[in-house]
Amino acid sequence: MHLPVLAAVDIGGTKVTASISNADGILAKVYQETVKTGDNTALPIQVDGMISAVCRLAGVKKAEVNALGVSTCSPFERRDGKLVLVSPNLCGGLTKDRHILPNRWMDIPLDAELRKHYPETVIGNDCITAVVAERLFGAGIGEDNLLYVTWSTGIGAGAYVDGHLLCGKNANALHLGHTFITTENHRQPACGCGDRGHLEAFAAGPAIARDFAEATGDRIAPVEVFRLYRQGNKTARGIIQRAARIFARGLVNATALLDTRLIVLGGSVIKDWDVLEPLVQEEFASAFPPLTKGVTITLSRLSQYLGDIAALSLVMPESWIPVWKAEKPWEKTPKAVKLET
Ligand SMILES: [Zn+2]
Repeated sequence: MHLPVLAAVDIGGTKVTASISNADGILAKVYQETVKTGDNTALPIQVDGMISAVCRLAGVKKAEVNALGVSTCSPFERRDGKLVLVSPNLCGGLTKDRHILPNRWMDIPLDAELRKHYPETVIGNDCITAVVAERLFGAGIGEDNLLYVTWSTGIGAGAYVDGHLLCGKNANALHLGHTFITTENHRQPACGCGDRGHLEAFAAGPAIARDFAEATGDRIAPVEVFRLYRQGNKTARGIIQRAARIFARGLVNATALLDTRLIVLGGSVIKDWDVLEPLVQEEFASAFPPLTKGVTITLSRLSQYLGDIAALSLVMPESWIPVWKAEKPWEKTPKAVKLET
């Protein structure tokens, strides 16, 4: 066995993945639906159970795990120096009166609970970890002014400015989806966080589905709205064009703030990038040229491995980096095994 052995966990609103790696690559990977019932330690208990399962698959003893990297949807608060998850995708108590989650959690003590089992735990916002991974191994290699943006169920971002990773007081930089793009509350769509008029509430995947349902009465998945777009459906075209325009304005806002050079996109919505690219590029290029010209917008090069590498990059030894950069061992990852809940 090539030491050290590292565990990496990616927590999303829908599923959690866990993998075990050594210097040679990712040895095994599992995934499971995110638990949202029980008390507010249910998620850290799930993560610990998944690490036990993936260790068995990898033929590694759990006691051999030297460090744990956790990439997660957020935001965080910091209490007694430890990160506490306060994510509206997981904590039903935070979503005001919308009752969209089967719990009333106000927070998840992720850091404190995981450290009981894994003293060497490092937790990061999934967009901050993604920008680190893209700069180390993906589309952002060598770029000091880099923005990663996920366009998915939510919209989030992570950034380097002059080679410095932006984190912030509670490691929440940049929650781009929760920036206001309107001045009014009245009649503006509600965001998952409970506020009104946020970028995410206009342009994320669920917003596309919501707008289509409001216009037609048909509740279909965002991917179906894209299918209709390709068939020339006028309603679908109008909704997607508007979402793309607003998303592009979000990119302009971030670029105006950070003076970035390269924007790398990930997330489920960009699976339809062939449709979105001309719309986003046109809107982006129409903004104030001194701030936006020379900016490249491109896609993640780590695709399905981004979450694993992002979490792993939090704890990866420096000595692995040149080898992984050259050999891309993640491309040989065994097929992920689904764990039943
Ligand atoms: Zn919001």
